[in-house]
Amino acid sequence: MNFTQRECVILTHDTQTLYQHGTLALLVPGLLAGTQTVGELMHHGDTGIGTLTGLNGELIMRAGHVYQVNADGAVREVDADERVPFANVHFQDDHQVATLTGLDYAALCDQIAAAVGTQNIFYAVRLVGTFAHVQTRAVRGRTTPPFATLAATAATQSIFNAEHVEGTLSGYYSPALYGGATSPGFHLHFLSADRQFGGHVLDAQVGNATLFIQEFSDFQLHLPTTDASFRQEQFDTAQVLRDINQAEH
Ligand SMILES: [Zn+2]
Repeated sequence: MNFTQRECVILTHDTQTLYQHGTLALLVPGLLAGTQTVGELMHHGDTGIGTLTGLNGELIMRAGHVYQVNADGAVREVDADERVPFANVHFQDDHQVATLTGLDYAALCDQIAAAVGTQNIFYAVRLVGTFAHVQTRAVRGRTTPPFATLAATAATQSIFNAEHVEGTLSGYYSPALYGGATSPGFHLHFLSADRQFGGHVLDAQVGNATLFIQEFSDFQLHLPTTDASFRQEQFDTAQVLRDINQAEH
């Protein structure tokens, strides 16, 4: 391989793969230790969502920058050496599919699903524009052990509302079939254009926004194989799905 070919390999990102560190299931019993650095995560994508050690706040990765919305509602840029227990990222190569106007959240999800036309694949959603209303939450997680369960930690969430806000709603759709490993259905985070408001989306009313979609043929699940607590955990599958549905929707 000569230098030019090597350079070409380095510069070509895989845009077909959705990368996930950790499973959503490991958050349920409280395996909230950060097991991958944000810097390592950025080798696998420039766009995504996640959370920090202890389920502390909501992460939004955009154009290679990572922002945290904390439980006080403050937005800050995250350092490369901070850690995540769970995150999804990909290299952005999405396509404009529609302009959406005046939709509530349920109608928005229906329109996105109709635009994609199948519920059996993973895809990234990016909706850029104005929103009449956005309701988000951010979890107040402990940043050091011992960690509580997902249900107990999620109960400490703060809820925020913004009216007439410009920004981007971004995240993923995962088929229900893979719930537990992933957050089934839509998992969307918001960040305002002025980076003053954001979080995990609970509700939204679209004003006028452009929808971009990126479908993935591949899903890469990266597990924290060196984490002793994860290795020893005996997951209760039924409990995992119950708690995920309660905490994430
Ligand atoms: Zn979230």
